[in-house]
Amino acid sequence: MKDAVSRNPRDIVRLLTEIVGKDNVLYEQYDLIPYSRDRCPFLTHPKHGVIPLAVVRPATTEEVQEIVVLANKHHIPLTPRGSGTNYAGSAVPSKGGVVVDLTRMNRILAIDEESMSAKVQPGLILQDFEEALSKRGFTFGHDPGSFPSATVGGCISTWSVGWRAGKYGDMGRLVLSLKVVLPTGIVIETRSVPKSSTGFDVKSLFIGAEGAMGMITEAVLRIHPSPEKRVILVYGFKDFEQAFKSLLKVLRAGLCPMMQLVTNKEGMEGLVEKSRANGFVMISYEGVKEVVDAQAKRTASILEAEGGMKISDEVAEQYWADRHDMFSKMNLVGAAGSIDTAVPVSKVLEFYKFLEDWAKRRGVKIFDIASWVLPENLGMDSAFDESEVKAYIAARDEALRKALELGGTTSYCVGVGTRFPHLMREEHGPALDVLRAIKRTLDPNNIMNPGWLSP
Ligand SMILES: Cc1cc2nc3c(=O)[nH]c(=O)nc-3n(C[C@H](O)[C@H](O)[C@H](O)COP(=O)(O)OP(=O)(O)OC[C@H]3O[C@@H](n4cnc5c(N)ncnc54)[C@H](O)[C@@H]3O)c2cc1C
Repeated sequence: MKDAVSRNPRDIVRLLTEIVGKDNVLYEQYDLIPYSRDRCPFLTHPKHGVIPLAVVRPATTEEVQEIVVLANKHHIPLTPRGSGTNYAGSAVPSKGGVVVDLTRMNRILAIDEESMSAKVQPGLILQDFEEALSKRGFTFGHDPGSFPSATVGGCISTWSVGWRAGKYGDMGRLVLSLKVVLPTGIVIETRSVPKSSTGFDVKSLFIGAEGAMGMITEAVLRIHPSPEKRVILVYGFKDFEQAFKSLLKVLRAGLCPMMQLVTNKEGMEGLVEKSRANGFVMISYEGVKEVVDAQAKRTASILEAEGGMKISDEVAEQYWADRHDMFSKMNLVGAAGSIDTAVPVSKVLEFYKFLEDWAKRRGVKIFDIASWVLPENLGMDSAFDESEVKAYIAARDEALRKALELGGTTSYCVGVGTRFPHLMREEHGPALDVLRAIKRTLDPNNIMNPGWLSP
């Protein structure tokens, strides 16, 4: 329901300027274009993006609150934004309106060494956080491929998963409490304790909500002691199946790796060209030296008993060093399409075989198929030409539907965004109405990321 203000971009810009000052409101076309898209492969070209009316860059919770109150009053769509590294199109202002760029709110407000927690603002970049912690003998432990540029707010809102999640947990588990400006302008702050039994876990409504439930303006996060030692083991196997089964043996022995990866030959391309192996297991531990040594020794003996061939430590170190660059490299050869599906462990090998056949049948060029962080997570990276987008989407949907048929999910990280809201009824069934009802309760005027979970 548009009113006079929401129909007039000049009015909106004027009112936003009153809140944050003229230097923090962008409205010229050339300034708006970068905000019209994120890293979603179908939106990397400007013609595919959605240009917002304006971009506003608040510096405080109070400013965010004023922006939200204004938008709610005039029914102006709002899209919160961190660094725009999301590749689901979640940060795209798909219904126009105003993008709220939170990257000025990038401070570490407090580090509480005794409680092993830190209070931070949402625009803080993970790498900056990690560097500050490491000077004090701590680590955060969240390490997605986008670590050099992703923000805390973006990672919470997409419930992101990183390389070190086996030990430290995914982003959601690292959150102790949140301060959030709700879509109606009310500010809430949850308590900084690991759990309470005084009702539902309210903060979880904002973890993985892709900015649709409110604007996160502060977070208290768990931090951990810097590890004394890290060991990375890579073993080659006859094929993916044998590699995956060997990983399960390690897990069934009660070992809990900091990182685990099973990938096919393509996943190790450029690193192990001469190996006869077609499947690889990579396992890493970090922490107290004696514990790490014992875990690594036991793991090596299990993998060797399963017929694994040790790959050199140099390859392992190189893979680890390159882990934040892989996705960017794929983008150089065309649009990169990733699916981050998860299925029950007992279905992983069936799904793997399906993906191999599917890629051949559909002519999709696969970079890698990998089980990553948890054995359930089986994702795939591929590349395609801009001209093949439609064919790629149809092919991708077939693979996503297969994951659902096997009892899995279309996305264990990154989110739904504008990629596949049309599959959400198939994924959630009647539970989709529960999600939508919560959204309506918190956001009666549907101003925040209004396209969320709606085709
Ligand atoms: C090279 C590369 C590697 C990647 N690797 C991984 C990976 O390993 N694991 C993984 O999970 N993802 C990965 N991603 C995806 C992406 O980095 C994550 O989705 C990340 O969490 C997004 O952070 P961001 O700051 O860029 O958020 P944005 O892209 O700006 O926003 C993401 C979503 O969060 C919302 N949002 C942002 N800030 C707030 C806030 N303060 N309050 C409310 N909502 C907010 C936005 O509206 C949007 O819906 C990768 C992306 C790239 C480009």
